[in-house]
Amino acid sequence: MNSLHSPISLIEVLPSAVFVALDGVLVDANPAALRLMEADALSQLQGQKIADLVHTLDQTRSQVRIQKDGGSWENPATKMRIRTLKNHFRILLVASRSIQYQQQDAVLISALDMTEHDAMDAHLRQSELDLRRLFENMQDVYYRTDAAGFIRKISPSVVNMLGYDPEEVEGKEAKSFYLDAEDSESYRQAILSRGRVTDFPGKMRCKSGRVIDISLNSQALYDEQGNFAGIEGVFRDVTQRNEMEQELKRLATTDALTNIENRRAFLEHTEHVFKSAQRYNTRVSLLMLDLDLFKTINDEHGHLVGDQVLVRFAEAVKIELREIDLFGRLGGEEFCVLLQQTTDQQAMIVAERIRKRVEELRFFDNDGAQFGVTVSIGIASNHLQDQQLERLLERADKALYQAKHSGRNQSRIEILPA
Ligand code: GH3
Ligand code: MG
Ligand code: MG
Repeated sequence: MNSLHSPISLIEVLPSAVFVALDGVLVDANPAALRLMEADALSQLQGQKIADLVHTLDQTRSQVRIQKDGGSWENPATKMRIRTLKNHFRILLVASRSIQYQQQDAVLISALDMTEHDAMDAHLRQSELDLRRLFENMQDVYYRTDAAGFIRKISPSVVNMLGYDPEEVEGKEAKSFYLDAEDSESYRQAILSRGRVTDFPGKMRCKSGRVIDISLNSQALYDEQGNFAGIEGVFRDVTQRNEMEQELKRLATTDALTNIENRRAFLEHTEHVFKSAQRYNTRVSLLMLDLDLFKTINDEHGHLVGDQVLVRFAEAVKIELREIDLFGRLGGEEFCVLLQQTTDQQAMIVAERIRKRVEELRFFDNDGAQFGVTVSIGIASNHLQDQQLERLLERADKALYQAKHSGRNQSRIEILPA
């Protein structure tokens, strides 16, 4: 490039590529241009026709820009695709102007390699497209609030979940969508103290008035100075999930036939009440109930009719119980009641009422035959020295045994030996 007579060899040290072309043929280039074109020596570039190096689709532009007269620097730079001497593809940002080179009209071309920049650009564009598609198609709702709790951004999915269009929600206070302002405040406090929350529960009111259960995953946002700047997160409608969980829990703790507590749930519940009664020295009484000669009911009227007897028996018992009393099916035709704050004498009165109500029940089998059923009841109440619920259950069982052996259809109390 000595021929350019640069006072300092500026062009030699420029990081961008510089070429000189005469009649569309390269005649000179700086070291950066050699690197760009993957030429080992200037001689490899000299004599190369620009038209042979430029991508077919960019020929017209390159002719206007550099192969003819070069124009001036004021012309906007042009992007074009070329191939290097080693046949690699590059995207260049090219500017040019006409100069005098060895007393001839020549074109000075400068080129910036944009290949990686463009690839990055395409990559960014793609990831933005991906994000936008995600934002627009997600089922969960994405949202962002400012520090004062006003919603600044919300995804279109909000219309499916809450019935509001994003425009109706943006600019409103986030807490106005909560059923309970306290819920919204405890959520905010959790985020402020922990920085983020996962599966945080809440209830929101839809445009229609319907209330849904939601679960939030969010994090606090901070500005450059580290000040709290808002909250960003997603929430999900978990109404169905919660309903299913509750139903599963109900199924696991309920006896399918009679709809009262099953053995496990009843004993767990009773254990809890028993322990608390022992601690606070209050009285509880257990009734152990067993239907009399139930086997013959099954034998005479069929198992399905027997089932109906169990269902109506359970309903009859419930009528005699208070809200705080526990009632469960221990198995087969054996049931148990726990009466809170009740002595054995008071329990005897309840047991007798149950026994009489059951005795009065009337059943019809499939042939129209009418029949009844009776129940025997064993009663026991807690004592200070009872360490375990089992003691109480054993005594009630013993009382039941006595009731059976004294002719059935009666209630018996088991008194602790002095
Ligand atoms: P007792 O007066 O001595 O208690 O006589 P029982 O016939 O009631 O006593 P036993 O324990 O011998 O019989 C209980 C019967 O209950 C036997 C069983 O077939 C019946 N049974 C247990 N579970 C069910 C049920 O879910 N449905 C019906 N229909 N019958 C049941
Ligand atoms: Mg029985
Ligand atoms: Mg039995």
